[in-house]
Amino acid sequence: MAKTNTVLIVGAGPVGAVLAYALRAQDIPVTMIEALASPEIDCRAASCHPPTVAMLDELGLLEDGLEQGLVSPVFHYIDRVTGELVGRFDIGAMAEPPKHPYVLQWEQYKIVLTVLDRLKDDAGFDLRMSTRLTGIQQNDEGVIATVETAEGESVSIDGRFLVGCDGGRSTVRKLLDIEFEGFTWPERFIKIDTRYDFTNLSEAITNRNYFSDPNQWMNLFKARGEDGSGMWRSVSPTLPEQSETELTSAEAVEARLQKFCPSDTPYDIVNVALYHVHQRVAATFNQGRVLLAGDAAHVNNPVGGMGMNGGIHDAVNLAEKIACIWSDGVDYQPLFNRYTRQRRKGQIDYVQAQSIRNKETLGETDPAKRAEKLAAIRRQAETQVEHDAFIRRACMIDSLNDANATL
Ligand SMILES: Cc1cc2nc3c(=O)[nH]c(=O)nc-3n(C[C@H](O)[C@H](O)[C@H](O)COP(=O)(O)OP(=O)(O)OC[C@H]3O[C@@H](n4cnc5c(N)ncnc54)[C@H](O)[C@@H]3O)c2cc1C
Repeated sequence: MAKTNTVLIVGAGPVGAVLAYALRAQDIPVTMIEALASPEIDCRAASCHPPTVAMLDELGLLEDGLEQGLVSPVFHYIDRVTGELVGRFDIGAMAEPPKHPYVLQWEQYKIVLTVLDRLKDDAGFDLRMSTRLTGIQQNDEGVIATVETAEGESVSIDGRFLVGCDGGRSTVRKLLDIEFEGFTWPERFIKIDTRYDFTNLSEAITNRNYFSDPNQWMNLFKARGEDGSGMWRSVSPTLPEQSETELTSAEAVEARLQKFCPSDTPYDIVNVALYHVHQRVAATFNQGRVLLAGDAAHVNNPVGGMGMNGGIHDAVNLAEKIACIWSDGVDYQPLFNRYTRQRRKGQIDYVQAQSIRNKETLGETDPAKRAEKLAAIRRQAETQVEHDAFIRRACMIDSLNDANATL
């Protein structure tokens, strides 16, 4: 094989971008392949939990994050039926708060644009936009990726390793025939971005809110938005039998928000998207010299904002392992096997379990069980030990610690 001195990263989403940045910080050459002509201005993830903030800090990206994002130390659980603030969780009020005692609301597209801007003049970073991965071959020396360029040409690119950061429908995972184990929820979730300031609704509203409702729960978060004036993002479930047009028409979106928060003037809607929601984890995150990270390796429902965070934890973990192999000539197989063990454990034991629990708590329809779940949140918010334990689970502190402790 002619050239084995680069890591191929497929996908310039937030996970691929952070992986590229972490590898370049170790002076490891990176070739990044992205199917789109320019990075997607993607309005999905915005919440970066405290362990992720610490990683962004280590990488030297936090200053940009603080400039472009919103610092949110507190999150609220609210009963949408009665309007009661059921639980207030304050990361800064933990007995032993993390180094960065807040969630940073930093939109995922801003993370990507920041990284690509930082790397634009870096000779060790080769970014190929409008380039789609279509095939992979690997041998003892390295990996050969087959890609299709914007001109429709089929080209080969060599690398020592290849990491699929190509999202939930990962071509890399499919080419490797790796099972994506789990299930898909029957209902889709609708996400609506609006400039309307929801603090008008009630004093219980903070930057991050979870509304419990047996009929229509809701997640409501504030991000800084493009011009810094604030963008509110709601996520709520839809009925499986409703069509996309029925759900996403201007009238339907307006009616949904008016029902949630009546307003005299029409809502200023910026973006609407409908998502199928999955809970799936790849059977393995490594096969020979090829690895999976981020949504390519695991997907979960967005209640709790854990998908991108888990992907960034993958990226940082993997960059450390690749750096060991790169400089010391260590055998890659045991380290990559350990990457799978650590990151699959974090996913299965924590992220999958917690995101399912989050969704079920908000949407509980049985009155007795709902009362029980809300009482549990009330109790956990009011007792220091339980409050702190709740935050450690919700903010992915436990998941990261436990994954990292796995041999
Ligand atoms: C409504 C909603 C809200 C969310 N909120 C949060 C949150 O607050 N916090 C959180 O942690 N997570 C959140 N998530 C999840 C988060 O958006 C994802 O986990 C995250 O985008 C995964 O990043 P990624 O880089 O792995 O994949 P992606 O962002 O999907 O990026 C994959 C990239 O690969 C490219 N690609 C795909 N196939 C190919 C190919 N064959 N060749 C070349 N390139 C290819 C794509 O074009 C894309 O650019 C949310 C999700 C939803 C739906």
